[in-house]
Amino acid sequence: MPTADSSLVTAEKALSTMRAAVYKGVSVVAVESIPVPEIGRGEVLIRVESCGICPTDLKKISYNLLPGPRVFGHETAGVIAAVGAGVTQYAAGDRVIVFHHIPCGECFYCGRKLYAQCPVYKKVGVTAGYEPAGGGFSQYVRVMDWIVERGIEKIPAGVSFDAASFVEPVNTCLKGMRQVDPQPGDVVAILGQGPVGLIFTMMAAQLGVRLVTTDTFETRRALARKFGAHESFDPRDTAFERTIKEMTEGRGADVVIVAASAKGIVEQAAAISRPGARILLFAQTSHQERIEVSGADICMGERTLCGSYSASVDLQAESAEMVFSGILPVEELVSHRYPLSEIHQGMERALHPDAESLKIIVQPQR
Ligand SMILES: [Zn+2]
Ligand SMILES: [Zn+2]
Repeated sequence: MPTADSSLVTAEKALSTMRAAVYKGVSVVAVESIPVPEIGRGEVLIRVESCGICPTDLKKISYNLLPGPRVFGHETAGVIAAVGAGVTQYAAGDRVIVFHHIPCGECFYCGRKLYAQCPVYKKVGVTAGYEPAGGGFSQYVRVMDWIVERGIEKIPAGVSFDAASFVEPVNTCLKGMRQVDPQPGDVVAILGQGPVGLIFTMMAAQLGVRLVTTDTFETRRALARKFGAHESFDPRDTAFERTIKEMTEGRGADVVIVAASAKGIVEQAAAISRPGARILLFAQTSHQERIEVSGADICMGERTLCGSYSASVDLQAESAEMVFSGILPVEELVSHRYPLSEIHQGMERALHPDAESLKIIVQPQR
């Protein structure tokens, strides 16, 4: 377990450049030397040890959604390297994770707990330099004051940085799970067993529900069973719908979580759900993607379609505890770890999942 000693902290203060994977625009990422960000009053500098590659970062890069230069990466775990004046709750050497955005708590949307819609929340407060974009794909990030106040959690001894980097994605899943709120005994179907789908599976397994999942890869179906799914099917296998019906006296699933984006997947969610079911759209982040369900499935079938995006500050401590306590064995989801110099391989792998790939982590100090 790496620990920071005072000589190391002093050495870091003297560092002026670092390596970072800089998004240059037009889908190009280059690993370059750039200045270590300077911090001001109320801010902290984190030495990044692990940062998960998230599909939303890849989407922004592949579709060139935001202008460069900027440094992505927001599932960040590391060690505090320096603190600015006025910071009393953290000190150099603290092992921490950081959320890259935190809501204001006072606006129209915050009043309705719709934190991801808050204008302050949309402002990213962690950066490796350039336009703030998370910065975790670099060796150091600067954390701005409003994030220092509420967006950092200390990592307890014995928890790895790789595991800790899951606190942000676990928070987003917990937020979605609370929306559909499955009850003990409910039949829950989770469509898609990538890293996020499997986090949902681990979480659902804690709730005393009966769980059925789908994925096209057998390796992922096997993991779903290991993490608590009663059964896991290829989504094209007719045994999937039959099993759900058998488990529910022909009614259909009480809750469906859509954790993958594929043609017809929301239609399938409606088809395997009972009247009055709650269906969570968790992976439908493209403005181009169109979904199709019959109006009657919603109106006459009284189903609720809901969406959830990003994290909730109200669930931050709870999601950290779920990871740090080991209740969710998230580290088992890590399939590949890359140094910053090989981030292109990591991003390629994350963009084109295969039977062996799951969560991919960048370790910028290697
Ligand atoms: Zn993410
Ligand atoms: Zn707000």
